[in-house]
Amino acid sequence: MMKRVLITGIGGQDGAYLSQLLLEKGYEVFGLDMDINAQTCWRLHYLDIYDKVNLIRADMADSKALLDAVKKSSPDEIYNLAAHSSPGSSFRLPVECGEITGLGFIRLLEAAREASPQAKIFQASTRDLFGAGDGSAYNEDRPYKPSNPYAAAKLYAHWMARIYRNSYGMFICNGIMFNHESPLRGIEFVTRKISDAVARISLGKESRLALGNVDAKIDWGYAPEYMQAAWQMLQQDAPDDYVIATGQVHSVKEFTRRAFQVAGLTWSDYIKSDAGLLRPSDVVIQKGDFAKARARLSWKPQVKFNRLVEIMVEEDLRRWKRHLSGERFPWDVNET
Ligand code: NDP
Repeated sequence: MMKRVLITGIGGQDGAYLSQLLLEKGYEVFGLDMDINAQTCWRLHYLDIYDKVNLIRADMADSKALLDAVKKSSPDEIYNLAAHSSPGSSFRLPVECGEITGLGFIRLLEAAREASPQAKIFQASTRDLFGAGDGSAYNEDRPYKPSNPYAAAKLYAHWMARIYRNSYGMFICNGIMFNHESPLRGIEFVTRKISDAVARISLGKESRLALGNVDAKIDWGYAPEYMQAAWQMLQQDAPDDYVIATGQVHSVKEFTRRAFQVAGLTWSDYIKSDAGLLRPSDVVIQKGDFAKARARLSWKPQVKFNRLVEIMVEEDLRRWKRHLSGERFPWDVNET
């Protein structure tokens, strides 16, 4: 029988890739988001799946709407991807972040407990739980030291997942995901900001790129592969928590250099540093140890750093060229 899935935050980067993956696997996909119009859900258009999923408008702050969504979708699997997902913005909107990123998940758990207690649940947890890294590889057993409101909200959700798992016997997995990027990454995140700026600069639309902490070293993977890992977690016999990462770190500077190189440009000609872009407690260096996911899920990342940067820059260049030639399509660029 066709499996049914409910994905929260379906309009985001991961929601779009997960939908694509599960449609390919023959699932009936239900997805909820705050706003489900064509422009907001541009990523689903980009993957040509907007008309293939059942969209439900619902706010993670609304318990009744979440219960209705669970009843309507009657899911075998639930993936909670909705969040205020930017650590930087969470300092500006700490209450909203706690409300959606933390409490939103508990509302969803309660809805599932009432209407679909057998559903298997994935919670999008984060490497931000560990706080600033020390350069060593972080596995599931390392202590949590969140250093921003987003991470604190995610830690609450992460721990509640474990409490519901142990107390109610629900099948809930935390995927402790390190950064994962793609051409569908939000424009407010540094990798996409760089790939978009490189495309604009290369086409003469802009002359400079302002960056904050270019020495921050980050473990960057390719988003579709992380959604594959999320799905694999829910196919196991027992629920557990898994770090999903590449085990390699690269600095923002390296990302920038490589991005300009892909466009045939020299990065140092175009960069200006901007102290205003530093966030109050910037993560300095952190990499993940995905040994458990490799051993138990047979998962490992395939797309390496250089290729990831190439994929992102090439896609932004393609989009800008289409846009400048007069083509109009759903996209996250403000310019008309
Ligand atoms: P996105 O920000 O792209 O997607 C989050 C989605 O949640 C968006 O569609 C957003 O809608 C939606 N959303 C926000 N507020 C609400 C609300 N009140 N009700 C319903 N939906 C809402 O994030 P990603 O796809 O990159 O990440 C998916 C999940 O994985 C997130 O929970 C994120 O925190 C987590 N994660 C991501 C990592 C990464 O590197 N990408 C790393 C570790 C964890 P809108 O855009 O309209 O606000």
